[in-house]
Amino acid sequence: MKFIPLPAFQDNYLWMLHDGHRALVVDPGDAKPVLQFLRHSGLQLATILVTHHHPDHIGGVDELRDATGAQVYGPAREKIPEPLTRLAQGDEITVLGLRFRVFDVPGHTAGHIAYYCEEVDGAPLLFCGDTLFSGGCGRLFEGTPAQMLDSLHKLAALPGNTRVCCTHEYTLANLKFAKAVEPGNDELAHYFDHCESLRASGLPTLPSSIGRERRINPFLRAREPAVQRAAQDYNGADPGDEVAVFAAIRQWKNEFK
Ligand code: ZN
Ligand code: FE
Repeated sequence: MKFIPLPAFQDNYLWMLHDGHRALVVDPGDAKPVLQFLRHSGLQLATILVTHHHPDHIGGVDELRDATGAQVYGPAREKIPEPLTRLAQGDEITVLGLRFRVFDVPGHTAGHIAYYCEEVDGAPLLFCGDTLFSGGCGRLFEGTPAQMLDSLHKLAALPGNTRVCCTHEYTLANLKFAKAVEPGNDELAHYFDHCESLRASGLPTLPSSIGRERRINPFLRAREPAVQRAAQDYNGADPGDEVAVFAAIRQWKNEFK
């Protein structure tokens, strides 16, 4: 299996997975780069996976379905171009011979889902849309901090070697903020330097891994004393429980420049 992040728009990746014959694409906000890639590679698009309803994730679905006959899967509770197979927590699908489990991960949108495959060429793989980013998480457009934190806990509990395929190249901006939250985190500092050199060479910083995110992503670290202290400094008072710490750093990130 090969997986490839096709760049789209300013900073989206349209993740493609293929076995040399058949391909799947995740969240095709734009059909053009996908059709171009299919034409070049001679691959047949079998499957489209959608994580949530935002235009930069579904804009190319109709055109791709019409052009290729690909089967579309998407969240049960969101408005996605029909026809599609609707999925929710606990559902399993087999595509390209791979078994994907579905998680409900509300927060960025109310019905957001993620796709997890236990083994692709020796390691697990996660397509998490705009829920988890490297060093960050999605904005809370339709959910509460408690919902988003719960969703992130679900993802953080996956095996450490799970490859994390996020849909945006937000890593450097996220890590700048993460360093403000945890200036004493050495792994975070090293990872920032590494990602800076990747971007300077025009390379993607993704996929990340769940293990790394647990060590560097402040939104998965609201129980860490250093993150709690930073949230307290930002708030001017003890924010309280883990949800309140998470809410404080999410708010701080919204304002961070
Ligand atoms: Zn989105
Ligand atoms: Fe997005």
